Amino acid sequence: MSHTIPDITLNDGNTIPQLGFGVYQIEPRDTVEAVSKALEVGYRHIDTAEMYGNEAEVGQTIRASGLDRGAVFVTSKLNNGFHRPDDARRAFESTLAALKTDYIDLFLIHWPLPTRYDGDFVSTWRTLEEFQRDGRARSIGVSNFQVAHLERLAAEADMVPAVNQIEVHPYFGNQEVRAYGRAHNILTEAWSPIAQGKVLRDPTVVDVAEQVGRTPAQVVLRWHVQRGDIVFPKSTTPERIEENFGVFDFELDDVVMERITELDRGEAGRQGPNPDTFDYIPA
Ligand code: NAD
Repeated sequence: MSHTIPDITLNDGNTIPQLGFGVYQIEPRDTVEAVSKALEVGYRHIDTAEMYGNEAEVGQTIRASGLDRGAVFVTSKLNNGFHRPDDARRAFESTLAALKTDYIDLFLIHWPLPTRYDGDFVSTWRTLEEFQRDGRARSIGVSNFQVAHLERLAAEADMVPAVNQIEVHPYFGNQEVRAYGRAHNILTEAWSPIAQGKVLRDPTVVDVAEQVGRTPAQVVLRWHVQRGDIVFPKSTTPERIEENFGVFDFELDDVVMERITELDRGEAGRQGPNPDTFDYIPA
């Protein structure tokens, strides 16, 4: 089975492996085992966040793996309580310290929080621009930004985000935001790519899986990959970590792709919070 993961070139010239491993909701004590397994299987891209509480364990596992730092692409995200520039600078330093690395491959604003901080996510973004200029963040991007938020950055800031990490899966195509990204050279990273498992029992997905001789998770991840999005499914089960990695040695034809795309339920398919109203700040 071919395990070659394609690299995608970002708008700043850096490259990112199209498939990675997500560690949301993996307890710190389980993170070392899960990430070790992922690296052993061949994943070279880990998606963490300050909010997930497991950056230290991610860094520790990468160092213990014997792989060069440069061989593993690491993403982390600015937590919601730290949008003011000075707080963002401190939070970014804490992220680097927790990971015990002197640079991060990709750093994101986790949520736009348009109803907080007087709606000012632009100064937060300008602070991330500093991290890229000083080389401590190779690439910078955003997460959960809607079209209106991206338009504001385009009007008021210098750099275009390299990625926008948003909820996307067959039940929630998030088409408008994806289309804006495509038109403006912002790559879409699809979070909850299998809707935390909820799309895997869908009759269409099950039918396609039987037709192509793959598992439902592989079919859905392959659908994302063929649409050009970046994915990082999460699992703590070794067999599933392997299963989710096996999506580059088969192809879905146009008819099958369309059948899955048609499962889109629009706003009703959204599983996570709506970024226009989400205002959670951890205590
Ligand atoms: P996911 O869609 O990757 O689903 C994960 C769940 O699906 C697992 O907990 C497991 O129960 C199940 N699963 C995984 N592989 C399976 C398989 N092969 N067969 C059957 N079931 C399987 O959900 P996620 O963790 O929410 O999203 C992936 C990653 O996206 C996260 O770990 C995180 O890195 C990122 N994320 C980012 C944001 C954000 O706001 N930026 C929000 C949510 C997630």
